[in-house]
This record gives sequence, C-alpha cells and structure tokens, in this order.
Amino acid sequence: MYEVDFLPVGDGEKSGDAIALRFTNPETGLPAVGIVDSGFRDDGEALVEHVKREYGTSSVDFVLSTHPDLDHIGGMGVVLRGLDVANLLIHRPGQHGYAGNSGDTPAEELVALAEEQGTTVVEPFQGVGGVGGAVLIAGPTQAYYEEMLAAQEVTTKSASATASQGFFGRAGTAVLAEARAVLDAFPGEIFFGDAGGTNPRNNSAAILSLLIDGEHILLPSDAGVPAITQALDFLDSQGRTASVPRLLALPHHGSRHNIDRETINRILGDPTSGWRGTVVASVSSESPKYPSPRVANAAGRRGYPVYTTAGSKFWSHSSDAPARPHYSTATPLPPLVEDDHDD
Ligand SMILES: [Zn+2]
Repeated sequence: MYEVDFLPVGDGEKSGDAIALRFTNPETGLPAVGIVDSGFRDDGEALVEHVKREYGTSSVDFVLSTHPDLDHIGGMGVVLRGLDVANLLIHRPGQHGYAGNSGDTPAEELVALAEEQGTTVVEPFQGVGGVGGAVLIAGPTQAYYEEMLAAQEVTTKSASATASQGFFGRAGTAVLAEARAVLDAFPGEIFFGDAGGTNPRNNSAAILSLLIDGEHILLPSDAGVPAITQALDFLDSQGRTASVPRLLALPHHGSRHNIDRETINRILGDPTSGWRGTVVASVSSESPKYPSPRVANAAGRRGYPVYTTAGSKFWSHSSDAPARPHYSTATPLPPLVEDDHDD
C-alpha cells in the first residue's frame, strides 16, 4: 500500500511543493510516513494537520528538504516543530565550504532545531536510502552537488519567492485519481530541448525514488536534465527503472527548462496508446505558464494523464489506500496547444 498526497493548495500565483507519503515498509510490513518538501509556511501547517488527521500519527520516518528555495523549504520549521521526525535529510552548503550560499542559513537553523529534538540529520546524496529499501536518493552525488554550489557563486541568481499566503481554509476539491483516461487527440510531437536548462540551485535538488510493491515513484523536485540524467543512470544501476514509473511528479512544476524529449522518453518510454501511470504537476491556479504544454502533451502521449494540483486542497495518488469521503474525481489536462511561449 502507498499513498502520495500533494499538499500545495495551489492558490495564488506561486505553488509550493509539499508532499506527504504513507506506505508499507517492505521489510517490517509496518506503515511508514515521509514528507518531501514543505512548501511555503502555510503548506507546512497543512502537512502537519494532514499527517495527524489522515495518517493518524505524529511520527514521521523521514523529512526530505530537496533544496532551499522558499516554495520548498518555507514550511520546514513548522513541520519539524509540529511532528515527531526521526530523520531530516537536508543539504548543508556550509559543510562544503559554501557558508555564504543563501541556502546555508535556513539549513543550519533547521539542523539546530532538528538536533534539539533528537532528529537525526543526514545529507541526501545519491545512494542514501532507508525504510526497508523503499526510499532511495537518486541524486545528486556529493561531487555534483558541490559543482552546483560553485556554479551558484557565479550566477548568484537568487530564486526569491514571495510566499502567497492564505492557502488553507479554501474549500477542498481534493481528488483521488485513477482515471485511466483515453489518451488521444494529442498534436504530433516534434523534437524539443530543455530551452536553455534550469539554474544550478534547481540542479542541486535531491531526487527521490520510491519503490513500493514493485511500483516505482519518481519525485525529481526542481532538478533539470543534467541532474535527472545522472539520477537515472544511478537508478538503472540499481534496477529501479526496470519498469516505467507508476507516478512521476513533473520536475519544476512542469517547466520546459527542466526536461527534454530524450529525457522524457527515457523516463516514461516511447509514445503509446495505452495507460501507464500518472503524472502530477504542482502548479498554482493563477500561474498560466506551468505546466509547459509540450511537456504535458509529451507525458500524455506516453500513457500518462497529467493532473495539476491547481485549485485543490490536496491531490492524492494511491494504490489501495482507504478511500476518503472528501475526495472527488480528478480530470486530467486535455491536449494543450503547443505555443512557443518561453516558460
Ligand atoms: Zn519549485
């Protein structure tokens, strides 16, 4: 059993990334709980409430902070204070000679808070894993992470995000989606690249692979093509990509700067007329630029209906998790017009 709950409420202009997971530890048969990023501050509050109310516990096996952009890390303090977290996985720029990196202060604050509470702190580098083998960090390697820290010094492109608050309290139109929609009517696909790629901060993000009941779930955070390629090489070597994923979160909210045709082929396979799995994009209802139409269509052509979190209080994907009465059915994105807008 597993369930993957996307909790950015998807309101306002920018959507946070906040994912709660519950699954069966394949070694012990006991339920395990994880959190991957905490969105903005309000998303952190939603995560705490979700874990307590829906999972009926305040114990969390691991919390992964993929990278220190505000839409991913803003709620981390709330999560650490509100739940009993066994392991915090977070990169620490200062430990690699980059104490001046803008991610160092939040990381060290969270590490101090975690240590105060008896939480074990681990840096999420390739090969770090646990929970009976279900959880595996696919990337970055420490060497690539340090390369990305160095590159951030050069670009100093600050990813300043203004938290759009007031998510919680919105009426829930959450979803349980296993709609094996008929996937047709997509426009023909032409070659596409990653539009110049993404920034080194995004490429430093931890990429998570979950293997539960033989089903692969890939959560690449905001990583781009070079980082995802290294992660896939590693996952190939670990035998985790023997079958296509059942669930993929589109990298960086579905931006066209984070995926190209070759990489999407590698992850999802060639186009097909059948259903293979589900793709989710964490996007806000007021952000028209995500997901990129050509990325969403490419997933659709490969048997993956694309769902967005926009306008949902939370969005859930599960295997045989108990049905929740307040869920409704989600509708996948229709084929989108592939215009040439630049995001
Ligand atoms: Zn993001």
